[in-house]
Amino acid sequence: MSTKVVDRTPLTFYERSYLPAILSGLKVTARHFLRSAKGHNTATDLSQGYYPEVPWTVAEGYRGAPYLVRDQEGHTKCVSCQLCEFICPPKAIKITPPGPEGIPSDRANAEKMPREFEINMLRCIFCGMCQEVCPEEAIFLQKDYSLTGTSREEMIYNKEKLLSLGGTHAGIQKWKHKLESAQHQEVFPVKTH
Ligand code: SF4
Ligand code: SF4
Repeated sequence: MSTKVVDRTPLTFYERSYLPAILSGLKVTARHFLRSAKGHNTATDLSQGYYPEVPWTVAEGYRGAPYLVRDQEGHTKCVSCQLCEFICPPKAIKITPPGPEGIPSDRANAEKMPREFEINMLRCIFCGMCQEVCPEEAIFLQKDYSLTGTSREEMIYNKEKLLSLGGTHAGIQKWKHKLESAQHQEVFPVKTH
């Protein structure tokens, strides 16, 4: 097997000074400055309002902060399986499982619920992987994009806060008919030879 050595072309003095990149950036800035001085619209979409006085209208499908949701009866949907904690790229989720003593789930057809569930919003990158992986449809990225706090601790949202921000998702009724459908499931005859 032969190896081909490719020479790296050395940068010129002009390129090493970063002047071409700086000048081309300034050209864009000057163009937008002149357009704005003439009263034309700028690169900023002002039709969306003057944030923060006028809040931004969030587009459909926008991925904002992830919150826990309750089912149609107001019960916790999360069953503490910890898949979201495992998959979360920046390790923003910390779940405390119920433990050996356990705390029973507050809804039927679920074995357990988390003792505590925290999301560090300073770490969260709003990627949506927790929502994708959740088997219970218990966590959803919502439309909140402006999260503020006066300390790092304040930006760690606990279970109660996540549940109250997430609200009830009446449309998601994954387990509502699960038991009935299981009971009506066809029983296959066992073949005996
Ligand atoms: S949206 Fe992404 S980063 Fe944020 S908690 Fe979910 S998996 Fe982690
Ligand atoms: S939010 Fe979903 S994925 Fe995360 S622990 Fe709860 S049930 Fe599992």
